[in-house]
Amino acid sequence: MLIVQKYGGTSVASPERISAVADRICATKAGGHDVVVVVSAMGKTTDELIALASAVNPDPPAREMDMLLTAGERISMALTAMAIHRRGVEAVSFTGSQAGILTDAAHGAAKITEIRGTRVRESLAEGKVVIVAGFQGVDPESREITTLGRGGSDATAVALAAALGADACEIFTDVDGVFTADPRIVADARKLDEVSFEEMLELSASGAGVLMSRSVEFGRRFNIPIHVRSSFNDNPGTWVKETTMEQAVISGIAHDTSEAKLTIRGVPDTPGIAARLFEPMASADINVDMIVQNTSTDGTTDISFTVPKSTLAEARDIAAEIAEAMEARSVDVDSAIGKVSLVGAGMKSHPGVAAGVFRALADASINIGMISTSTIRISCVVAEADTERAVQVLHERFDPPNISQEVGA
Ligand code: ADP
Ligand code: ASP
Ligand code: MG
Repeated sequence: MLIVQKYGGTSVASPERISAVADRICATKAGGHDVVVVVSAMGKTTDELIALASAVNPDPPAREMDMLLTAGERISMALTAMAIHRRGVEAVSFTGSQAGILTDAAHGAAKITEIRGTRVRESLAEGKVVIVAGFQGVDPESREITTLGRGGSDATAVALAAALGADACEIFTDVDGVFTADPRIVADARKLDEVSFEEMLELSASGAGVLMSRSVEFGRRFNIPIHVRSSFNDNPGTWVKETTMEQAVISGIAHDTSEAKLTIRGVPDTPGIAARLFEPMASADINVDMIVQNTSTDGTTDISFTVPKSTLAEARDIAAEIAEAMEARSVDVDSAIGKVSLVGAGMKSHPGVAAGVFRALADASINIGMISTSTIRISCVVAEADTERAVQVLHERFDPPNISQEVGA
């Protein structure tokens, strides 16, 4: 069997942790398997590098940022290979570029376009364990090094597993699997044994950082089951896969405090206004998430929408320009928001869920600023300060063992 294993930052945070990871890799190899390992940067290295960059330049060039950040994974890949060598097993590390991970040109948010993997296959054929630096690739046109965005090592791992035709893809992290909510916030969150790609995609896109959403997309597209499990024990984790045994009404609750809300007030309520506003946002690659347009009074309306805080300054400039051109009244910014999302495939056939969400938040005196839904998700924007409490009250109300009573099923 060919097994792809990915170890996250906490799992390779110290020489001791790297040694433990090397033991696990060597045990897998000794079990008669070929092993390709993807590693993240050690501990909080990526955060520290970002802080270093902003200390020398608050607005660093994107190319140099990627040159800097890719160094984090380069350190852990070499150390992991060394630790494996010490155990008498041959290992070789490759950067994303050396492994033939090709991407588009978008520094800081590059998409994998192709994986050649020639050197990876050659080294496997020579019996070596192959270590690949996560979260990075190369744009074949400009030959520049790119990074895939935060949490991108997950995407490297699943994409590699697909490209190499691996038999298994294991994501080793600092929790036992995917839980019904972030276990750091909900102490009695439960580990899920299985979750479908569809639900995991909604959870990841709604802020459940345990798997980067791009990695789940690869898993779904190439039908690679992903086993999310702990690097600190041997417990079975969570299988993210095509179909699951049962469709829970609610699989999990995710939260996200990385977005900000913009409101344009006094927009003339005429056809084409929304297009005029959101087209330039799209051209600037700004990911607009929730959008709410109020009913109009006196021929004008207010439009609110959320964008990642990382693109807030740009989004505000664009909004201000358009607001002026359409003689809108003002552009307001609220950065202190949080989004709470309830996800579950069984929601489709249980109409009581949305009402239950609103009741639970109301009983906790948490005000809802915006609402959006998909067939398997309900998201509410609340004040940032209320976000964790909102996750807790929703978890208490909807944790699956109680769900049938809650929705009257
Ligand atoms: P790694 O460095 O291994 O990639 P991450 O920090 O990226 O680890 O992801 C693991 C973290 O994700 C956990 O420590 C946990 O706090 C957080 N998390 C958020 N939502 C969930 C969830 N639903 N289930 C499990 N972990 C979650
Ligand atoms: N080191 C990168 C990050 O912290 C990539 C990863 O860990 O997946 O975002
Ligand atoms: Mg991660």
